[in-house]
Amino acid sequence: MPAGRRGRDGATRDGPTERGPTRDSPLEERAPEVIRILRRAYPDAKVALRFSNPLEMLVATILSAQCTDERVNRVTEGLFAKYRTPEDYLRVPEEELARDVKPTGFFNQKAKSIRGACRRIVEEGGGEVPRTMEELVALPGVARKTANIVLGNAFGKVEGIAVDTHVRRVSQRLGFTGESDPDRIERDLMELIPKRHWFSFTYVLIDHGRAVCVARRPRCEECPVSRLCPSSLV
Ligand code: SF4
Repeated sequence: MPAGRRGRDGATRDGPTERGPTRDSPLEERAPEVIRILRRAYPDAKVALRFSNPLEMLVATILSAQCTDERVNRVTEGLFAKYRTPEDYLRVPEEELARDVKPTGFFNQKAKSIRGACRRIVEEGGGEVPRTMEELVALPGVARKTANIVLGNAFGKVEGIAVDTHVRRVSQRLGFTGESDPDRIERDLMELIPKRHWFSFTYVLIDHGRAVCVARRPRCEECPVSRLCPSSLV
């Protein structure tokens, strides 16, 4: 849950009171305030997928599509003990890998993507997960979201903002973007958010989307940025 809370006067402990920007203020005025308040509300936001090397980060991220991080972590606990190198994923029949990742859903497609990526890593990358956006998105089953997560978490390189379902929903509700295509949403966010915050703010938005700005009915009454949000229900 976020650290900030609204008071009776509608202000938050983290933000300024009536004199600050409101949800009717221009985006360039309210966005910095939203970013500041949410960063303070989720100071420990970080990736929830467990990994100990770039290959594990890549595989876990592929498995996380349409699946909770908790379930992925349960599956990868055994998976990463069995498959330690890209070659290991190619050594077994695809059906066996699909069975091993079945609890994460869409298992046939995910097994195909993992093996496709591993084949390219072995054949063209000398067995190493690539370290550039260009090379990562060339891997089968890897789009910018996955590439951003792998680059940021495994290599400490920040080239963009990973747009997952939470980042997309929260950004739209906050009026940070009017787009629905992930690449366009990312472009809007990169213009709005200072580059030094791109990596951490991704996880701030994800945590806020999980804890408060949930999909079905956002909990606006306990949201620290409700007075700055054009979609607020309160
Ligand atoms: S006010 Fe409501 S819709 Fe806006 S960010 Fe907060 S929870 Fe989401």
